[in-house]
Amino acid sequence: MLEELLGKSRQALREYCQGLGGPAYRGTQIYHALYAGRRFDFARMTDLPLKFRAQLSREARISLPEVLRRYASGDGSVRYLFSLAAENSRPASVEAVFMPSDGRQTVCISTQAGCAVDCRFCLTARLGLIRNLSAGEILAQVLLPLEEHKDRLAEQTNVVLMGQGEPLLNYEAVLAAVRIMLDGEGLGFSARHVTLSTSGILPGIERLAAEPIRPKLAVSLNASTDEQRDAIMPINRKYPLRALMEVCRRYPLRPWERLTFEYVLLGGVNDAPEDARRVVRLLSHLRAKVNLIPWNPADLPFSEPAPERVEEFRRILSEKGVPVFVRVSRGRDVMAACGQLASL
Ligand code: SAH
Ligand code: SF4
Repeated sequence: MLEELLGKSRQALREYCQGLGGPAYRGTQIYHALYAGRRFDFARMTDLPLKFRAQLSREARISLPEVLRRYASGDGSVRYLFSLAAENSRPASVEAVFMPSDGRQTVCISTQAGCAVDCRFCLTARLGLIRNLSAGEILAQVLLPLEEHKDRLAEQTNVVLMGQGEPLLNYEAVLAAVRIMLDGEGLGFSARHVTLSTSGILPGIERLAAEPIRPKLAVSLNASTDEQRDAIMPINRKYPLRALMEVCRRYPLRPWERLTFEYVLLGGVNDAPEDARRVVRLLSHLRAKVNLIPWNPADLPFSEPAPERVEEFRRILSEKGVPVFVRVSRGRDVMAACGQLASL
């Protein structure tokens, strides 16, 4: 069995190199080559001695998921469909979306193939959970698109863990990948530019709160009462609004940080002015901002909110002093927008 190196931490790579009989600093060199240099081929790790490279080629591998398809949107974003190694003879594929814009690029990545959380408005839920991704598979979704666009990269890279899957239900692999993203010797991103979005898995949020190195947190609120939230997000029966808001109040924000709440606007379901007023009350005493996401059409029994409702909702929050943004999803023409990822 060849040892998989992609996804390993610096410490793990150092120990691995020592195990091969080399000095530990070779592990640091590989770490740097993989994540900062995006060199996925031992032959290109020219700072390693030739003999050691030959040994690595015999004993280890760096496997990147295969790009099955690229879907280019008219707005410049690209949806990648990756095939993953089959597990328990179940083949899996997963998606990431690369979105260039002025001065930065944003990569939206998946943390699981499919998702078990079963939100009614989300196409990914239809897949069920296929499997968890490894840290290497999570990182590859950032590394590959960056490498492909390397001649046109803007200074700043944002990563959002908002593709397929519930990140806090694949905690270990997600955090291992995030630590490498946020490490100056790894991908070197700033914690301000990496955002993990959760449907509200309370034990996961509490665990994240205790991490010395962590991304920003976004919570998918999506409803203003338990009754509504129960109906569209079954996870609310396990972790209801009151408990969710309590954990959010205790969440230790860094001085520069706000909690983000995402709110998918479903036409006629949760987009009334009373909903907006209830959201204001839920978020009082929190340093928060709200991203309103007009529902992206998918083959599901919901409809898009009327533009006037979106504007009214936004205005109510804004007038009450809640920072609020309307997120027009990108890549809708190639099914790359929020909630449209379903491995097709
Ligand atoms: N599983 C995590 C992260 C992935 S979903 C979570 O649920 O937070 C990312 C965001 O897309 C969530 O806020 C979710 O509520 C939203 N979303 C899901 N389906 C959508 C759709 N069809 N249109 C717009 N947003 C959607
Ligand atoms: Fe899973 Fe998020 Fe979709 Fe809900 S919205 S089913 S948690 S991916």
